[in-house]
Amino acid sequence: MEEDLKFIPLAIEDKREFADDEFVDESNNKEPDEPLYEKPHKQKNAVKAAYTNSPLVTYTKLSPCKNSPRNHAIDTITIHCMAGNLTVESCGALFSKYSRQTSSNYGIGSDGRIALYVNESDRSWCTSNRANDHRAITIEVANDGGAETGWHVSDKAMASLINLLVDICQRNNIPELRWKADKNLIGQVDKQNMTAHRWFAAKACPGDYLYNSFGSIADQVNKRLRG
Ligand SMILES: [Zn+2]
Repeated sequence: MEEDLKFIPLAIEDKREFADDEFVDESNNKEPDEPLYEKPHKQKNAVKAAYTNSPLVTYTKLSPCKNSPRNHAIDTITIHCMAGNLTVESCGALFSKYSRQTSSNYGIGSDGRIALYVNESDRSWCTSNRANDHRAITIEVANDGGAETGWHVSDKAMASLINLLVDICQRNNIPELRWKADKNLIGQVDKQNMTAHRWFAAKACPGDYLYNSFGSIADQVNKRLRG
């Protein structure tokens, strides 16, 4: 219950985005140029068939909080913090409640286990921004420290995060992770393909510990991708 209570403010705030996106980037919101009414069924199946999920997942609890399918190819990574030390099961239990109106594609516990909550083919409700979540894989990481530690993440969770990111990039043909800590580059994935929740809503997420680690995380992932 204590974990539940810690999570409530995050979930309640997240509800706001479904009425109206706070951040509107015209370049992100343009619909594809394809004719809307030409063979929609065939196109939909073709898109869905291209998506897979990570083989690193050891726990699956699919959330009803999603849009299926996503409307944009996966070209962005958004790493979040749970703002609590939730297990993959307790996080999955929260995301399984439609009333929470929140979810992520993946979750990682402090023990390093990786969970799937929303298939990669679908858009999670995670970053307070529709356009971002349609093109991003969102990952919630548990915190073994509180706000005073910048929402610290365990070494096991960090190692699993790197493994998961390498796998996501390889399966989705993302050549490398790019991080400039520059909000003005949102949507310009050739320059920066990682985003932060704090750019889209008045939130600490992903916490200073993860936010300040994004460059090092990208370096470690890219070293593996090149190796
Ligand atoms: Zn977040």
